Amino acid sequence: MRKVCFLDLDGVLVDFVSGALALHGVTLPRSEVRWNFLTQIGFDGINDPRFWSPMGHDFWANLPWTAEGPLVLLAVERLYGADNVALMTSPCDTPGSVEGKLSWVCRELPAYRRRLFVGPAKHLAAGPGKVLVDDHDANVDKFCAAGGSALLVPRPWNRRRGETDSEGRFCVERFAADLEPLRY
Ligand SMILES: [Mg+2]
Repeated sequence: MRKVCFLDLDGVLVDFVSGALALHGVTLPRSEVRWNFLTQIGFDGINDPRFWSPMGHDFWANLPWTAEGPLVLLAVERLYGADNVALMTSPCDTPGSVEGKLSWVCRELPAYRRRLFVGPAKHLAAGPGKVLVDDHDANVDKFCAAGGSALLVPRPWNRRRGETDSEGRFCVERFAADLEPLRY
């Protein structure tokens, strides 16, 4: 069976954290960023509309790549074949989020503009032959529980934070070695 790999955007290819911190004019060392970092910078939890509401189309469309993003994409394409790779991203509720993400993909990865899946329930795409690469503990756990395979990208905001360096970065070669057995 040819396996399909779903690749997350925010926190994997796209540097949402840096963009969000810059938008709100705050600094936080990357190595100290946790999943619910909104509370670390003065917001009232993950659903605080004051954090999300300024994030319209242009915010999502203009986010930078993560440092490892290009190499992660290359590694995934080498292992699975580019035709078997798709992007899978969860939007926020703010108007413009979905369109902004599409704009980002159209500009940065035009070959993927018709292989972009947008929705928070990633586990509903799980099953035999399906692999998810994601930076959120819960997404990985749910995808595996639903019958797929998944690889958690090490980030300071997930349980693999011990594998990140002082700048919150991880070793892409090790990532590729972890991903390799999942394609069988
Ligand atoms: Mg993510």
